Amino acid sequence: MTICEKDLCCGCMACMNACPSGAITRYTDGEGFWFPEVDDALCTGCNSCRRVCPVHNVRKNDTFQKKVFACNSLSDETVLDSSSGGLFTEIAKLILSKNGVVFGAVLDDRFRVIHSSVSTESGLARLRGSKYVQSDMKDVFPQIKGLLESGRIVLFSGTPCQVAALYNFAGENRNLYTCDIICHGVPSPMFFEDYKRDLEKRYKSEISDIKFRYKKPCWEVFSMKVLFKNGQEYAGDAFNDPFLRGFLTDRVSRPSCHVCGFANLNRQGDVTIADFWRYIPDDEHPLENRKNGISLLMLNNEKGQAVFEEIASRIRYVAKPVYEAVNGNLCLAKPYEPSWDRSNFWVSYRQRGYQYCKKRYLRPKNYVPPLVSALNKIVTKYEYEKYRLHDKIDAGK
Ligand SMILES: Cc1cc2nc3c(=O)[nH]c(=O)nc-3n(C[C@H](O)[C@H](O)[C@H](O)COP(=O)(O)OP(=O)(O)OC[C@H]3O[C@@H](n4cnc5c(N)ncnc54)[C@H](O)[C@@H]3O)c2cc1C
Repeated sequence: MTICEKDLCCGCMACMNACPSGAITRYTDGEGFWFPEVDDALCTGCNSCRRVCPVHNVRKNDTFQKKVFACNSLSDETVLDSSSGGLFTEIAKLILSKNGVVFGAVLDDRFRVIHSSVSTESGLARLRGSKYVQSDMKDVFPQIKGLLESGRIVLFSGTPCQVAALYNFAGENRNLYTCDIICHGVPSPMFFEDYKRDLEKRYKSEISDIKFRYKKPCWEVFSMKVLFKNGQEYAGDAFNDPFLRGFLTDRVSRPSCHVCGFANLNRQGDVTIADFWRYIPDDEHPLENRKNGISLLMLNNEKGQAVFEEIASRIRYVAKPVYEAVNGNLCLAKPYEPSWDRSNFWVSYRQRGYQYCKKRYLRPKNYVPPLVSALNKIVTKYEYEKYRLHDKIDAGK
């Protein structure tokens, strides 16, 4: 029995959790991504796995006239500690104030990315911040279903495919709130393990903390910070850190991310959060504290609208047209293409390992001289003006 084609499988593992006869286990492939494996001897053909699979069942959530905001939390501390403008924290606080439970991605004691839950504000710090690695969902879907059945309010935050899988698994429920992120793609957990191992060897110490968005020199430049138990620290950015280079050059994301059926405006969550890339300042309503992070908040249905109304007093916000959101985040229109040499990268990885690929494919990129940067800005502005002509995007959903 095949649940879905390997190249399309997003690895949410809802199928494994849904199988009543325990016929589905998971294996990790040569790129370090996990996939379901069905034991035909145990499979009864009940089809539960296919019913929860987000590749087969995409939630239609596009009847509401979308609203987009550029915003950030009024708490400067929250903005600095978050990847963008701290919108996730504000939404999570709202749910916790209603005695709800919040689910999101955390780093476990070995700095692997997994989904977990918190029910107090003090626990929120673990959930805060992007972890640019595919998160292991473990048994989060049955946990959420159980909580909803017992009448608890739940907020789930994750990638659009994870949100879609959750709705397939737990059903629509008035106590279920969802928040999806605009997702560039999820990098390989194996690649991340090798990256950490390499750093531990270089710094001759175990890792004590990792921050994927360190916001130095500024929010717009992706920068990674790793602390070690011996007190040393490492910082790298989008131009020189091998992990960020692998992620942002589209060599290490899951293959299904490049054909993702959720990279569009039919957002799966009640709200969508992201970075407001290419934010254009609004002279009439300037957004303060811009340099530390601006979130994109998209309201996708009435529930999302209600959440916004409840957090509005705790955030600064400016309404924006949908096309500005799309202009800054092209994966709102279509998935990112894989790098032309992605296949070669993984053949080399399997044959010669992380160190070789780091030197061969992920070499630091040269600093962009000011003149080139100025030319880039002109081109960006031109592209933007061109995009404005496509008002149909804004008129649609
Ligand atoms: C793999 C990945 C790719 C992304 N790609 C883009 C992009 O292309 N464009 C863009 O604008 N934004 C992207 N984001 C989202 C962005 O990085 C911020 O997470 C988002 O803007 C929310 O920021 P915040 O300040 O509101 O809250 P934060 O506190 O920074 O957000 C934290 C929330 O993100 C969720 N999260 C973190 N890591 C993961 C993970 N591995 N899997 C699932 N959920 C996770 C957590 O559950 C948590 O609730 C991506 C995030 C991830 C994890």
